[in-house]
Amino acid sequence: MRAPHPRYRLYTSWRSYLPFAIDLIRIEEDGDAVRRFEEALTAFLGTDRVATLPMCRTGIYLTVKHLVRPGQEVVMSPYTIADVINMVILAGGRPVFADIERETCNISAASVRSLVHAGTGAVLVTHLHGIPAPIREIRDLCEELGVPVIEDAAQAFGARVDGERLGTIGDAGVYSFGTYKNINAWYGGAVTCRNPETFAAIRGELSRSSPQSGAFLIKRMLKGLVTDLATNPILFRALTYWIIRFGQLHEIRAINRFVEEERDLNRRDRVPAEYLGRMTAAQHRLCLTQLGHVDRDNRSRAEKAALYRSGLQETDAFVLPPGDCGDSIYTYFPIQRGDSLEERRLLLRFLAQHGCDVGPQHLKNCADLPAFREFHRDCPNARKTAASVVLLPSYPAYPVGDIERNLALLRRYRPD
Ligand SMILES: *Cc1c(COP(=O)(O)O)cnc(C)c1O
Repeated sequence: MRAPHPRYRLYTSWRSYLPFAIDLIRIEEDGDAVRRFEEALTAFLGTDRVATLPMCRTGIYLTVKHLVRPGQEVVMSPYTIADVINMVILAGGRPVFADIERETCNISAASVRSLVHAGTGAVLVTHLHGIPAPIREIRDLCEELGVPVIEDAAQAFGARVDGERLGTIGDAGVYSFGTYKNINAWYGGAVTCRNPETFAAIRGELSRSSPQSGAFLIKRMLKGLVTDLATNPILFRALTYWIIRFGQLHEIRAINRFVEEERDLNRRDRVPAEYLGRMTAAQHRLCLTQLGHVDRDNRSRAEKAALYRSGLQETDAFVLPPGDCGDSIYTYFPIQRGDSLEERRLLLRFLAQHGCDVGPQHLKNCADLPAFREFHRDCPNARKTAASVVLLPSYPAYPVGDIERNLALLRRYRPD
Protein backbone atom coordinates (compact mmCIF):
# COMPACT_ATOMS: atom_id res chain seq x y z
CA MET A 1 0.00 0.00 0.00
CA ARG A 2 1.25 3.48 -0.92
CA ALA A 3 1.38 5.88 2.01
CA PRO A 4 -0.62 9.10 1.64
CA HIS A 5 0.34 12.72 2.17
CA PRO A 6 -0.48 14.12 5.61
CA ARG A 7 -3.90 15.51 6.49
CA TYR A 8 -2.46 18.93 7.26
CA ARG A 9 0.70 20.96 6.94
CA LEU A 10 1.69 24.17 8.66
CA TYR A 11 1.92 27.39 6.65
CA THR A 12 5.61 27.85 7.47
CA SER A 13 8.77 28.51 5.50
CA TRP A 14 12.48 28.46 6.38
CA ARG A 15 11.96 32.02 7.62
CA SER A 16 9.67 30.72 10.36
CA TYR A 17 12.58 29.05 12.16
CA LEU A 18 16.19 30.16 12.58
CA PRO A 19 15.78 33.64 11.01
CA PHE A 20 12.71 34.19 13.20
CA ALA A 21 14.49 33.00 16.35
CA ILE A 22 17.49 35.24 15.64
CA ASP A 23 15.21 38.18 14.91
CA LEU A 24 13.34 37.55 18.14
CA ILE A 25 16.51 37.57 20.21
CA ARG A 26 18.30 40.36 18.36
CA ILE A 27 15.68 43.07 18.29
CA GLU A 28 13.38 44.10 21.07
CA GLU A 29 10.91 46.86 20.35
CA ASP A 30 10.46 48.13 16.82
CA GLY A 31 7.43 50.25 16.09
CA ASP A 32 8.35 50.35 12.42
CA ALA A 33 7.78 46.61 11.88
CA VAL A 34 4.40 46.89 13.58
CA ARG A 35 3.41 49.86 11.46
CA ARG A 36 4.55 48.24 8.20
CA PHE A 37 2.59 45.05 8.74
CA GLU A 38 -0.50 46.86 9.98
CA GLU A 39 -0.41 49.07 6.89
CA ALA A 40 -0.01 46.09 4.59
CA LEU A 41 -2.87 44.37 6.38
CA THR A 42 -5.09 47.42 6.10
CA ALA A 43 -4.47 47.51 2.35
CA PHE A 44 -4.98 43.75 1.98
CA LEU A 45 -8.28 43.82 3.83
CA GLY A 46 -9.41 47.05 2.19
CA THR A 47 -10.42 48.56 5.50
CA ASP A 48 -9.52 51.64 7.52
CA ARG A 49 -8.27 50.38 10.84
CA VAL A 50 -6.40 47.22 11.81
CA ALA A 51 -4.44 46.41 14.96
CA THR A 52 -2.45 43.23 15.56
CA LEU A 53 -3.29 41.07 18.54
CA PRO A 54 -1.68 38.42 20.74
CA MET A 55 -4.37 35.93 19.60
CA CYS A 56 -7.68 35.93 17.80
CA ARG A 57 -9.34 35.04 21.11
CA THR A 58 -8.01 38.24 22.62
CA GLY A 59 -9.77 40.08 19.80
CA ILE A 60 -13.06 38.39 20.63
CA TYR A 61 -12.59 39.31 24.28
CA LEU A 62 -11.76 42.95 23.49
CA THR A 63 -14.43 43.54 20.87
CA VAL A 64 -17.15 42.06 23.09
CA LYS A 65 -15.85 44.04 26.05
CA HIS A 66 -15.99 47.32 24.13
CA LEU A 67 -19.17 46.76 22.11
CA VAL A 68 -21.41 44.98 24.63
CA ARG A 69 -22.69 46.17 28.00
CA PRO A 70 -22.14 43.72 30.91
CA GLY A 71 -24.89 41.09 31.00
CA GLN A 72 -26.10 41.67 27.44
CA GLU A 73 -26.73 38.71 25.15
CA VAL A 74 -24.28 37.70 22.43
CA VAL A 75 -25.95 35.58 19.76
CA MET A 76 -23.37 33.13 18.40
CA SER A 77 -22.67 29.74 16.87
CA PRO A 78 -22.11 26.91 19.36
CA TYR A 79 -19.89 25.10 16.83
CA THR A 80 -16.58 26.80 17.64
CA ILE A 81 -13.61 26.63 19.97
CA ALA A 82 -14.81 26.36 23.57
CA ASP A 83 -12.40 29.06 24.63
CA VAL A 84 -14.20 31.52 22.36
CA ILE A 85 -17.25 31.08 24.61
CA ASN A 86 -15.00 31.80 27.59
CA MET A 87 -13.85 35.05 26.00
CA VAL A 88 -17.44 36.18 25.42
CA ILE A 89 -18.37 35.41 29.03
CA LEU A 90 -15.22 36.97 30.52
CA ALA A 91 -15.86 40.12 28.48
CA GLY A 92 -19.28 40.42 30.13
CA GLY A 93 -21.49 38.86 27.43
CA ARG A 94 -24.12 36.14 27.88
CA PRO A 95 -23.81 33.58 25.06
CA VAL A 96 -27.06 32.75 23.29
CA PHE A 97 -26.40 29.80 21.01
CA ALA A 98 -28.02 30.00 17.59
CA ASP A 99 -28.22 26.72 15.70
CA ILE A 100 -26.19 26.27 12.51
CA GLU A 101 -26.94 24.94 9.03
CA ARG A 102 -25.50 21.54 8.29
CA GLU A 103 -24.20 22.37 4.81
CA THR A 104 -22.26 25.50 5.76
CA CYS A 105 -21.54 24.61 9.42
CA ASN A 106 -22.32 28.30 10.07
CA ILE A 107 -25.23 30.15 11.68
CA SER A 108 -28.01 31.07 9.30
CA ALA A 109 -29.70 34.44 8.99
CA ALA A 110 -32.97 32.75 10.00
CA SER A 111 -31.59 31.44 13.28
CA VAL A 112 -30.10 34.85 14.09
CA ARG A 113 -33.40 36.55 13.22
CA SER A 114 -35.28 34.33 15.65
CA LEU A 115 -33.00 35.25 18.58
CA VAL A 116 -31.83 38.81 18.08
CA HIS A 117 -33.73 41.84 19.44
CA ALA A 118 -33.05 45.52 20.03
CA GLY A 119 -31.52 44.76 23.45
CA THR A 120 -29.04 42.18 22.14
CA GLY A 121 -25.42 43.15 22.83
CA ALA A 122 -23.88 41.71 19.66
CA VAL A 123 -24.05 38.92 17.11
CA LEU A 124 -20.81 36.95 16.73
CA VAL A 125 -20.59 35.35 13.29
CA THR A 126 -18.00 32.60 12.75
CA HIS A 127 -16.93 31.82 9.18
CA LEU A 128 -15.89 28.23 9.77
CA HIS A 129 -13.60 26.30 7.38
CA GLY A 130 -13.16 29.50 5.34
CA ILE A 131 -16.78 29.29 4.19
CA PRO A 132 -18.64 32.59 4.52
CA ALA A 133 -21.69 32.75 6.77
CA PRO A 134 -24.57 34.88 5.36
CA ILE A 135 -22.86 37.94 6.77
CA ARG A 136 -24.54 40.59 4.64
CA GLU A 137 -28.01 39.39 5.51
CA ILE A 138 -27.08 39.21 9.18
CA ARG A 139 -25.51 42.67 9.07
CA ASP A 140 -28.59 44.22 7.42
CA LEU A 141 -30.86 42.55 9.92
CA CYS A 142 -28.73 43.75 12.86
CA GLU A 143 -28.31 47.25 11.47
CA GLU A 144 -32.08 47.73 11.65
CA LEU A 145 -32.00 46.79 15.33
CA GLY A 146 -28.83 48.72 16.14
CA VAL A 147 -27.00 45.54 17.17
CA PRO A 148 -23.26 45.32 16.36
CA VAL A 149 -21.93 42.34 14.39
CA ILE A 150 -18.53 40.82 15.17
CA GLU A 151 -17.00 38.46 12.61
CA ASP A 152 -14.72 35.62 13.70
CA ALA A 153 -12.68 35.21 10.53
CA ALA A 154 -9.94 33.13 12.21
CA GLN A 155 -10.41 30.43 9.56
CA ALA A 156 -11.31 32.78 6.74
CA PHE A 157 -8.41 35.18 6.36
CA GLY A 158 -8.62 36.50 2.79
CA ALA A 159 -12.03 35.03 1.89
CA ARG A 160 -14.45 37.43 0.21
CA VAL A 161 -18.14 38.02 -0.39
CA ASP A 162 -18.84 40.18 -3.45
CA GLY A 163 -15.29 41.50 -3.32
CA GLU A 164 -15.38 42.43 0.37
CA ARG A 165 -13.02 40.55 2.68
CA LEU A 166 -14.63 38.67 5.53
CA GLY A 167 -14.04 40.39 8.82
CA THR A 168 -14.57 43.83 7.28
CA ILE A 169 -18.30 43.50 6.60
CA GLY A 170 -19.61 43.68 10.17
CA ASP A 171 -18.78 46.27 12.83
CA ALA A 172 -15.63 44.43 13.91
CA GLY A 173 -13.67 41.42 12.68
CA VAL A 174 -10.96 39.24 14.18
CA TYR A 175 -8.28 37.05 12.58
CA SER A 176 -5.78 34.52 13.85
CA PHE A 177 -2.11 34.15 12.99
CA GLY A 178 -1.75 31.11 15.24
CA THR A 179 0.22 27.95 14.47
CA TYR A 180 -2.49 26.24 12.41
CA LYS A 181 -3.69 29.21 10.39
CA ASN A 182 -2.91 30.43 6.86
CA ILE A 183 -0.65 33.16 8.22
CA ASN A 184 1.44 31.62 10.95
CA ALA A 185 3.28 33.85 13.44
CA TRP A 186 3.20 30.94 15.95
CA TYR A 187 0.82 33.07 18.00
CA GLY A 188 -0.95 36.22 16.93
CA GLY A 189 -3.94 37.80 15.28
CA ALA A 190 -5.56 41.03 14.23
CA VAL A 191 -8.69 43.06 14.81
CA THR A 192 -10.48 45.50 12.56
CA CYS A 193 -13.21 47.80 13.76
CA ARG A 194 -15.45 50.30 11.98
CA ASN A 195 -16.07 52.73 14.81
CA PRO A 196 -12.98 54.92 15.41
CA GLU A 197 -13.66 55.41 19.13
CA THR A 198 -14.15 51.71 19.79
CA PHE A 199 -11.02 50.98 17.80
CA ALA A 200 -9.04 53.55 19.78
CA ALA A 201 -10.27 52.01 23.04
CA ILE A 202 -9.23 48.51 21.93
CA ARG A 203 -5.88 49.74 20.66
CA GLY A 204 -5.32 51.64 23.91
CA GLU A 205 -5.94 48.53 25.95
CA LEU A 206 -3.56 46.53 23.76
CA SER A 207 -0.81 49.12 23.94
CA ARG A 208 -0.78 48.91 27.73
CA SER A 209 0.17 45.21 27.65
CA SER A 210 3.79 44.13 27.46
CA PRO A 211 5.26 42.22 24.48
CA GLN A 212 4.99 38.43 24.40
CA SER A 213 7.91 36.64 26.06
CA GLY A 214 10.57 35.41 23.64
CA ALA A 215 10.93 32.13 25.56
CA PHE A 216 7.21 31.48 25.15
CA LEU A 217 7.40 32.09 21.39
CA ILE A 218 10.52 29.92 20.98
CA LYS A 219 8.68 27.11 22.75
CA ARG A 220 5.75 27.48 20.33
CA MET A 221 8.19 27.50 17.43
CA LEU A 222 9.92 24.31 18.60
CA LYS A 223 6.57 22.55 18.92
CA GLY A 224 5.83 23.71 15.38
CA LEU A 225 9.17 22.34 14.23
CA VAL A 226 8.28 18.89 15.53
CA THR A 227 4.93 19.07 13.70
CA ASP A 228 6.59 20.31 10.53
CA LEU A 229 9.14 17.49 10.59
CA ALA A 230 6.58 14.79 11.39
CA THR A 231 4.36 15.98 8.52
CA ASN A 232 7.21 16.47 6.07
CA PRO A 233 5.95 14.32 3.18
CA ILE A 234 9.07 12.12 3.04
CA LEU A 235 9.20 11.43 6.75
CA PHE A 236 5.43 11.21 6.97
CA ARG A 237 5.14 8.59 4.27
CA ALA A 238 8.10 6.60 5.56
CA LEU A 239 7.24 6.67 9.24
CA THR A 240 4.70 9.05 10.80
CA TYR A 241 1.78 7.77 8.77
CA TRP A 242 2.31 4.16 9.81
CA ILE A 243 2.41 5.10 13.47
CA ILE A 244 -0.77 7.18 13.18
CA ARG A 245 -2.52 4.46 11.23
CA PHE A 246 -1.54 1.84 13.81
CA GLY A 247 -2.87 4.10 16.56
CA GLN A 248 -6.13 4.66 14.72
CA LEU A 249 -6.82 1.07 13.72
CA HIS A 250 -5.94 -0.31 17.15
CA GLU A 251 -7.44 2.61 19.06
CA ILE A 252 -4.31 3.36 21.01
CA ARG A 253 -4.93 6.52 22.97
CA ALA A 254 -1.25 7.30 23.60
CA ILE A 255 -0.79 7.69 19.83
CA ASN A 256 -4.15 9.23 18.96
CA ARG A 257 -3.54 11.98 21.47
CA PHE A 258 -0.87 13.48 19.17
CA VAL A 259 -3.18 13.65 16.19
CA GLU A 260 -6.12 15.06 18.05
CA GLU A 261 -5.68 18.75 18.47
CA GLU A 262 -5.81 19.63 22.13
CA ARG A 263 -9.21 20.75 23.21
CA ASP A 264 -9.57 22.56 26.46
CA LEU A 265 -13.26 22.37 27.20
CA ASN A 266 -13.23 24.01 30.60
CA ARG A 267 -14.73 27.21 31.86
CA ARG A 268 -12.14 29.89 32.68
CA ASP A 269 -12.36 32.38 35.50
CA ARG A 270 -9.98 34.89 33.94
CA VAL A 271 -8.12 35.67 30.73
CA PRO A 272 -4.69 33.93 30.86
CA ALA A 273 -1.69 36.30 30.90
CA GLU A 274 -0.28 34.91 27.63
CA TYR A 275 -3.45 36.01 25.81
CA LEU A 276 -2.50 39.60 26.52
CA GLY A 277 1.17 39.79 25.45
CA ARG A 278 1.52 41.99 22.38
CA MET A 279 2.90 40.56 19.12
CA THR A 280 6.66 41.16 18.91
CA ALA A 281 8.42 42.98 16.07
CA ALA A 282 9.86 39.65 14.83
CA GLN A 283 6.34 38.23 14.51
CA HIS A 284 5.21 41.27 12.54
CA ARG A 285 8.13 40.82 10.16
CA LEU A 286 7.34 37.11 9.77
CA CYS A 287 3.70 37.89 8.96
CA LEU A 288 4.74 40.44 6.39
CA THR A 289 6.71 37.77 4.48
CA GLN A 290 3.58 35.58 4.33
CA LEU A 291 0.90 38.08 3.38
CA GLY A 292 1.88 38.03 -0.29
CA HIS A 293 1.05 34.28 -0.64
CA VAL A 294 -2.33 34.33 0.99
CA ASP A 295 -4.49 34.90 -2.07
CA ARG A 296 -2.55 32.37 -4.14
CA ASP A 297 -2.82 29.73 -1.40
CA ASN A 298 -6.52 30.50 -1.01
CA ARG A 299 -7.12 29.99 -4.73
CA SER A 300 -5.22 26.74 -4.66
CA ARG A 301 -7.42 25.40 -1.86
CA ALA A 302 -10.56 26.54 -3.66
CA GLU A 303 -9.44 24.57 -6.75
CA LYS A 304 -8.98 21.48 -4.61
CA ALA A 305 -12.40 22.00 -3.08
CA ALA A 306 -13.87 22.09 -6.59
CA LEU A 307 -12.30 18.70 -7.32
CA TYR A 308 -13.78 17.23 -4.14
CA ARG A 309 -17.15 18.72 -4.93
CA SER A 310 -17.36 17.42 -8.47
CA GLY A 311 -16.15 14.01 -7.30
CA LEU A 312 -18.79 13.71 -4.58
CA GLN A 313 -21.87 15.49 -5.84
CA GLU A 314 -23.20 12.35 -7.53
CA THR A 315 -23.31 10.41 -4.28
CA ASP A 316 -25.84 11.36 -1.64
CA ALA A 317 -23.94 9.68 1.15
CA PHE A 318 -22.40 12.92 2.43
CA VAL A 319 -23.47 16.44 3.35
CA LEU A 320 -21.31 18.79 1.27
CA PRO A 321 -20.72 22.53 1.66
CA PRO A 322 -22.79 24.63 -0.76
CA GLY A 323 -21.05 25.68 -3.95
CA ASP A 324 -22.40 29.18 -4.14
CA CYS A 325 -21.46 31.21 -1.09
CA GLY A 326 -18.86 33.82 -1.91
CA ASP A 327 -15.18 33.12 -2.45
CA SER A 328 -14.79 30.37 0.12
CA ILE A 329 -11.17 29.62 0.97
CA TYR A 330 -11.76 26.08 2.29
CA THR A 331 -9.21 25.67 5.06
CA TYR A 332 -10.40 22.10 4.53
CA PHE A 333 -13.21 20.60 2.47
CA PRO A 334 -15.65 19.57 5.22
CA ILE A 335 -18.00 16.67 4.50
CA GLN A 336 -20.43 15.04 6.90
CA ARG A 337 -21.23 11.39 7.24
CA GLY A 338 -24.40 10.44 9.13
CA ASP A 339 -25.58 11.98 12.39
CA SER A 340 -23.57 10.13 15.00
CA LEU A 341 -20.00 9.71 16.20
CA GLU A 342 -20.26 5.99 15.46
CA GLU A 343 -21.04 6.55 11.78
CA ARG A 344 -18.07 8.88 11.47
CA ARG A 345 -15.82 6.46 13.33
CA LEU A 346 -16.68 3.70 10.86
CA LEU A 347 -15.95 5.93 7.87
CA LEU A 348 -12.61 7.09 9.29
CA ARG A 349 -11.68 3.49 10.03
CA PHE A 350 -12.49 2.46 6.47
CA LEU A 351 -10.37 5.31 5.11
CA ALA A 352 -7.46 4.46 7.41
CA GLN A 353 -7.62 0.80 6.38
CA HIS A 354 -7.33 1.83 2.75
CA GLY A 355 -4.41 4.19 3.24
CA CYS A 356 -5.97 7.66 3.59
CA ASP A 357 -4.87 10.16 6.17
CA VAL A 358 -7.91 12.28 6.94
CA GLY A 359 -9.34 13.24 10.29
CA PRO A 360 -12.44 14.44 12.07
CA GLN A 361 -13.19 18.05 12.94
CA HIS A 362 -12.62 18.15 16.69
CA LEU A 363 -14.82 21.15 17.47
CA LYS A 364 -17.68 20.46 19.84
CA ASN A 365 -21.23 21.68 20.01
CA CYS A 366 -20.52 24.09 22.86
CA ALA A 367 -24.25 24.47 23.57
CA ASP A 368 -24.09 20.94 25.02
CA LEU A 369 -20.83 21.24 26.99
CA PRO A 370 -21.12 20.82 30.77
CA ALA A 371 -18.85 23.86 31.28
CA PHE A 372 -21.48 26.11 29.66
CA ARG A 373 -24.55 24.39 31.06
CA GLU A 374 -26.15 27.64 32.18
CA PHE A 375 -26.23 28.77 28.54
CA HIS A 376 -27.48 25.49 27.11
CA ARG A 377 -29.87 25.68 24.17
CA ASP A 378 -31.01 22.80 22.05
CA CYS A 379 -29.09 23.07 18.75
CA PRO A 380 -29.80 19.81 16.91
CA ASN A 381 -27.89 20.73 13.75
CA ALA A 382 -24.80 21.71 15.71
CA ARG A 383 -25.04 18.44 17.64
CA LYS A 384 -25.20 16.33 14.48
CA THR A 385 -22.58 18.41 12.68
CA ALA A 386 -20.12 18.18 15.57
CA ALA A 387 -20.47 14.38 15.46
CA SER A 388 -20.09 13.97 11.74
CA VAL A 389 -17.65 16.40 10.08
CA VAL A 390 -14.65 14.84 8.36
CA LEU A 391 -12.05 17.27 7.04
CA LEU A 392 -10.66 16.47 3.60
CA PRO A 393 -7.20 18.02 3.09
CA SER A 394 -6.98 20.98 0.72
CA TYR A 395 -3.68 22.69 1.57
CA PRO A 396 -1.74 24.04 -1.42
CA ALA A 397 0.87 21.28 -1.63
CA TYR A 398 -1.67 18.45 -1.25
CA PRO A 399 -1.39 16.40 -4.45
CA VAL A 400 -4.27 15.84 -6.82
CA GLY A 401 -3.39 12.13 -6.80
CA ASP A 402 -4.26 11.92 -3.12
CA ILE A 403 -7.52 13.82 -3.73
CA GLU A 404 -8.44 11.29 -6.40
CA ARG A 405 -7.67 8.41 -4.09
CA ASN A 406 -9.77 9.95 -1.32
CA LEU A 407 -12.63 10.44 -3.76
CA ALA A 408 -12.47 6.90 -5.11
CA LEU A 409 -12.68 5.51 -1.58
CA LEU A 410 -15.46 7.85 -0.49
CA ARG A 411 -17.53 6.87 -3.54
CA ARG A 412 -16.95 3.22 -2.80
CA TYR A 413 -17.82 3.48 0.87
CA ARG A 414 -20.83 1.35 1.82
CA PRO A 415 -21.34 1.10 5.55
CA ASP A 416 -22.84 -2.21 6.60
C1 LIG B 1 -8.21 29.30 15.58
C2 LIG B 1 -9.56 29.86 15.85
C3 LIG B 1 -9.78 30.80 16.86
C4 LIG B 1 -8.74 31.21 17.83
O1 LIG B 1 -7.57 31.71 17.29
P1 LIG B 1 -6.39 31.98 18.32
O2 LIG B 1 -5.46 32.87 17.56
O3 LIG B 1 -5.83 30.65 18.63
O4 LIG B 1 -6.97 32.65 19.50
C5 LIG B 1 -11.04 31.32 17.02
N1 LIG B 1 -12.06 30.93 16.24
C6 LIG B 1 -11.90 30.02 15.26
C7 LIG B 1 -13.06 29.64 14.41
C8 LIG B 1 -10.64 29.43 15.05
O5 LIG B 1 -10.49 28.51 14.11
